[in-house]
Amino acid sequence: MPTSSRDRKTLLRNGLIVDGTGRAPRPGSVLLDGGRIAAMGDLPQEAATTIDCSGKVIAPGFIDAHSHMDFFSVSKDPHHFDSFTAQGVTTFVAGNCGFSPFGFAPQTKHRGLLENSLFKAGTDALNWNTFAEYREVLEGLGLTHNFLHLVGHGAARTSLSGFEARPLSPAEYAQMLNLLDRALSEGAAGVSLGLQYKPGVFAKLEELDDVAHLVKRHDKLLTVHAKAYSSFSGTYPMVPFGRAHNLKAIDDMLGVARRTGVRLQFSHLIFVGSSTWKTVDEAIDLFDRAIADDVDVCFDMFPYRCGATLLNTLLPEWFMARMPDALRSPLARARLWVEAEVGFRTVGFGYEQMQITNACSPEYDEHNGRFLPDIAARVRKSNFETMLDILDKSNIEARGLFHRYYNDEIIDRLMRHPAAIFASDSWPEPGGHQNPAAYGTFPRFLHIARERGNISLESAVHKMTGSAATRFRLNERGRLEEGYAADVVVFDWNAVADGANESGDAAPSGVEHVFVNGEPILEAGQVRAVRGAGEVLLS
Ligand SMILES: [Zn+2]
Repeated sequence: MPTSSRDRKTLLRNGLIVDGTGRAPRPGSVLLDGGRIAAMGDLPQEAATTIDCSGKVIAPGFIDAHSHMDFFSVSKDPHHFDSFTAQGVTTFVAGNCGFSPFGFAPQTKHRGLLENSLFKAGTDALNWNTFAEYREVLEGLGLTHNFLHLVGHGAARTSLSGFEARPLSPAEYAQMLNLLDRALSEGAAGVSLGLQYKPGVFAKLEELDDVAHLVKRHDKLLTVHAKAYSSFSGTYPMVPFGRAHNLKAIDDMLGVARRTGVRLQFSHLIFVGSSTWKTVDEAIDLFDRAIADDVDVCFDMFPYRCGATLLNTLLPEWFMARMPDALRSPLARARLWVEAEVGFRTVGFGYEQMQITNACSPEYDEHNGRFLPDIAARVRKSNFETMLDILDKSNIEARGLFHRYYNDEIIDRLMRHPAAIFASDSWPEPGGHQNPAAYGTFPRFLHIARERGNISLESAVHKMTGSAATRFRLNERGRLEEGYAADVVVFDWNAVADGANESGDAAPSGVEHVFVNGEPILEAGQVRAVRGAGEVLLS
């Protein structure tokens, strides 16, 4: 363990304080002492490590309000987090989209499915079940950043019935609720749903209501990766001239919140495909009306037009339920082809927008980073055949970056919305092409605010600090205030920006110093991976 941050004293001198509340910037200094913010304002020079911050912004450390990095914190390698440190991130809200690395039934036969989830970091086994046990492992290893954890409904359900497309038995149902209840009692901040992934996709609305009631009883947060983010999605039945599926998914979840009174966080509000972009007005209107009716709902977003996902999220529920046999059934393939053609055309999304980042198979890995039509041309197959072949060879684990999740106008508009909280929804891929969001999200938000002027500096900082802290009830974090935890970032407002390169892993610029609980983890732009700097935050 390093010299404890508890003994460190650092004076951040003569900067521009943007305190995370949304208040206008003001000149001043910030003294970090014993892991806390000891003083702020016009401070005298004293016996402390002093950093000249003139011309620089001093702000609370950034909170990644939608993260999947909990799967990486049990890894032996602390450098998985370097790209986030370089952005100024000090705290992650993890366990999203139904996936958490705990909350499992002890007798589970499905540990393999849980370990091989979308976010797995190498070959690390998940040899524990409860949040308390997971926390013990983390505290033994020492965290590099602060973590707030949600427990995944999908994880609990997978540990009971695997990916079986069936309702849970009454005994399993009760046990699932018990597993979630236990994690919440042990300090998890809420429950996450992943309704586009197996097995969340098989859960009916009544089940979601029961989970929401449980969360409400604990007065915690329900987060949801919704059932659809495009106007047409295989997760809902095809009804000609029916309601756009992404709007239906918002209706469903606002319905859960209205019926149960649960506090709801709608995860990564994206609009997949150019046709879905026409529903933005109505989607925002749905949220605004719910908020006007006192429904406690916010959403999170990222600043890239593309996002990372599993290739299999494209598959309709009926096909997923019959995997892997469906891949070899000519009838199922024919039906899928028709639905894909109709679906892609309806949504304004297609093979051209699918970039394979990690094919997860020796046969296709050389194509990582390429768009699907390019790969298809190289392997001399149709786009459709290539997509299914990649799914098959990867054991349906292939990952991609899908484009047309947003356009710039939607990003600008959502950033201005009072219910928007900023997040990366990203993780570094163990191999292949990288998601730029894991390398540049927070600098990019700031860069957009500066270049496009859609929101002010203090508002941008608020949405990645104080606003997220309030939403997730992070005690004494997310703001620069005397007595608060010394999670702090120093950046150059005139230079801060994400980078761009061919492989998606360009470093950002303009972020200079980062402290977690007073411990420097970025010094003059140099990342330090410090075990024990971060804490498990309990709720
Ligand atoms: Zn998600």
